[in-house]
Amino acid sequence: MAFREYKTDVAIIGAGAAGIAGGIEALDAGARCIAFEKREEAGGAAAISGGGCCIVGSPVQKAEGIEDTPDLAFADWMAWGGPSVDEVWARYYLEHTLHDLYHWAEQYGVKWVDMKPQEGNSVMRWTRAEGNGLGLMRHLIKAYEDKGGEIIPHVKVDKLTMQDGKAVGFVGTDIQNGNPISVMGDVIILTSGGFNSNIDMVLEVRPELKGFKVMEGSGFGSNGDGHKMAEQVGGYLTHMDHVWFYCYSTPDYRDQTGRRGLVCRHIPGYIWVNQQGKRFHNEALSGGNSMSPAVLAQDPPYCWAIVDTPMKATLEIADPYYRDGDKVVREKVEELLANSPYIKKSDTLEELAQEIDVPAETLIGEISSYNKAISDGLDKEPTFGKPLGMSKQFDTGPYYAIQFFPTARKNFGGIKTDKKCRVLNKHFEPIAGLFAAGEACGMAGGHINGRAGLEGTMLGPSLFSGRVAGGWAAESIGHGNGFIGTPNR
Ligand SMILES: Cc1cc2nc3c(=O)[nH]c(=O)nc-3n(C[C@H](O)[C@H](O)[C@H](O)COP(=O)(O)OP(=O)(O)OC[C@H]3O[C@@H](n4cnc5c(N)ncnc54)[C@H](O)[C@@H]3O)c2cc1C
Repeated sequence: MAFREYKTDVAIIGAGAAGIAGGIEALDAGARCIAFEKREEAGGAAAISGGGCCIVGSPVQKAEGIEDTPDLAFADWMAWGGPSVDEVWARYYLEHTLHDLYHWAEQYGVKWVDMKPQEGNSVMRWTRAEGNGLGLMRHLIKAYEDKGGEIIPHVKVDKLTMQDGKAVGFVGTDIQNGNPISVMGDVIILTSGGFNSNIDMVLEVRPELKGFKVMEGSGFGSNGDGHKMAEQVGGYLTHMDHVWFYCYSTPDYRDQTGRRGLVCRHIPGYIWVNQQGKRFHNEALSGGNSMSPAVLAQDPPYCWAIVDTPMKATLEIADPYYRDGDKVVREKVEELLANSPYIKKSDTLEELAQEIDVPAETLIGEISSYNKAISDGLDKEPTFGKPLGMSKQFDTGPYYAIQFFPTARKNFGGIKTDKKCRVLNKHFEPIAGLFAAGEACGMAGGHINGRAGLEGTMLGPSLFSGRVAGGWAAESIGHGNGFIGTPNR
């Protein structure tokens, strides 16, 4: 069996947002860098992401006449994320988004193109990179490689190698042929992403959901490998139960494992009912801090999206199979509606209620009240205050019921680090030779978002903390002066 060995200054585990940003920083400081990636391609969850970052005081905001400051963003962040926000990291990130994220990425060709409103923000600041996450990561990966950084794909890192309490490398497996790999690094940066594509690990930290259907919704490599490796060498895991769920997704019936969810977007007129046939929430609020707690509080914790025929015409499925670049492939959406066992269709609402086993009287009562609010010309329906501007009456069959289950999307807890991204043990002392960043660390430091994120507060802090880790990791072995950056004050 062939055994491959590598030796480098900075050895990186995982070539996603944080790993690549960290590599760029370490290369800039003059260190040699190799990133080991278990998938075929670098990019991680970042490359399938919406590419939106929470950025404060940006030219895109200014062009829209929006005045924003780190103080205002910090106030929103704290109000949204609650008492478990890591205030130091939140403040650190927000003061550095303009120069050390927005302009930093621009120098590598990233174009920040537009913004989207997101729940919890008093002004728009979720700022999208051209080409979404894929566009952003392509530019950054190119910059990393142009600077001399190497990426070795198909290598799953399994275990850190320690000598006298110091991380000195790791061992792994070439997943194409099973051959072992050994890596010696003067310093290690762990950037292996979150654990939301490992449902067993999600249920371990959220045991109250055991026995219910909960889906995997992160990048394909986000399996929590890094959490286990860090824990084995004494790293402290914190706020692991802070899992950010989205609930507007239905199981991917084509997925052999039955574990992945498909996000369903752009049906503004629909309503959601629980298994008792009752509406329970304002359907205009679908975020992880609004819809998700509402769905998780239902018995059982899922809901049915009720849609009529004209409404389904705008349905989009956020998955490459259902899209051709920016265009939605309608035949494939129809294929899903026709074939998924989690989607029911009937000519009448009575039959639909039977199909999904909810009391017909209750379902029809909910729809009649909703229709009446529209025919009365109300701006909002009175029960939950959903704005009706984008809604129409339910009046044209066939009707559809799409079953939505909680989907674990982002991890807001993880490996605890200090402000230099040094991995801390349970005594809050750094483990020599080991740095970590990104979603493996709940995006930065361990729990930068607290319980809820303003959005754009995952990719943004992952890139930023990656840079911080890269700078200080390189400094720890004699390259450069560490990460300083330029605050926006
Ligand atoms: C569909 C989707 C949309 C999203 N949209 C947004 C958005 O618009 N805005 C936002 O802020 N956030 C968004 N996010 C979240 C954001 O993409 C992630 O939080 C971010 O990418 C985390 O960066 P990371 O570098 O820590 O992890 P990743 O980008 O996931 O990179 C980790 C890498 O490590 C590799 N790896 C894991 N284990 C090993 C191992 N044992 N050996 C070798 N390699 C390993 C993985 O394969 C992966 O490539 C989205 C997430 C998803 C899934």
